[in-house]
Amino acid sequence: MSMAIIVHGGAGTITSDRAEIARAGCREAALIGWRILENGGSALEAVEAAVRALEDNPNYNAGKGACLTVDGRIELDAGIMDGKKLSVGAVACVEYIKNPISLARKVMESPYVLLVGRGAQEFALEQGIPQCSFGDLLTERQYKRWKEAQSTGVDAEEEPRYHRREVTPGSPRNEEKHGTVGAVAIDTSGVLAAATSTGGIFNQYPGRVGDTPLVGCGFYADENAAISCTGQGEDFARLLIAKRAADFVAGGVSARDAAEAAIALLGAKAEGTGGLIVVDRPGNVGFAWNSENMAHAFMTEGLDEPITGV
Ligand code: ASP
Repeated sequence: MSMAIIVHGGAGTITSDRAEIARAGCREAALIGWRILENGGSALEAVEAAVRALEDNPNYNAGKGACLTVDGRIELDAGIMDGKKLSVGAVACVEYIKNPISLARKVMESPYVLLVGRGAQEFALEQGIPQCSFGDLLTERQYKRWKEAQSTGVDAEEEPRYHRREVTPGSPRNEEKHGTVGAVAIDTSGVLAAATSTGGIFNQYPGRVGDTPLVGCGFYADENAAISCTGQGEDFARLLIAKRAADFVAGGVSARDAAEAAIALLGAKAEGTGGLIVVDRPGNVGFAWNSENMAHAFMTEGLDEPITGV
């Protein structure tokens, strides 16, 4: 079986000064996952490790570097799925967890599919995952952005063309830059897996949860394909974008065409933007977005180096 891995570092607007940083983090994460696959590790291990690397990287909106809610908290969501067993684990609205994707993996190994908030945090402690501090997750950049929005109502990082949009605290549609992270892979046994992790949407209402921890919405894996999404979570959730992409592959289209068809559907049925990555059973990778950018990197057999893009 052909191995493959593709990761993303979020759809949205990536300004030219940040493009190289966004590519480099994706490249590093793809290589971490690829080495696991090369050494005979599972797709599940590879996607978890790749997403952990992106969560630890302060340049993405997941784990350290996540954006703040309107009341100044960091609430994290993550989901992971094994395409062979169709087992799923997800967490939503968790605070003080450095690597939510590993907590999601623990949920996957429990009788549950999704744990949220306080219960998820207690479960983390029971599983030996220690709490980190708020400061371990907070970056100067996200704090400045939040502070600025509190005083001016405008996101300091928005491109000028977005300034005419009103930044209403709690509005789900006030943010054009996303930054969720994700990885999908196929291992030498032909097993597919998907993982996605996010800090949600900048300045979001406390308790707001998007597509990222919702199976079939922000991530999905079965025997045909694995998918991870990023973008306006409300639209990805109501349109079940990840599952739709898996169904396109099941219907006989390649990873690439499935990614494009899913984004065409998003464009036709929603105002929100975003992107997704797909890997299929033959080991093809696909990616598509209708936002301005989506940081990504992939490794497939025959490549010496990951291919990256934004
Ligand atoms: N999909 C994420 C959410 O809505 C945000 C993102 O991808 O950046 O929470």
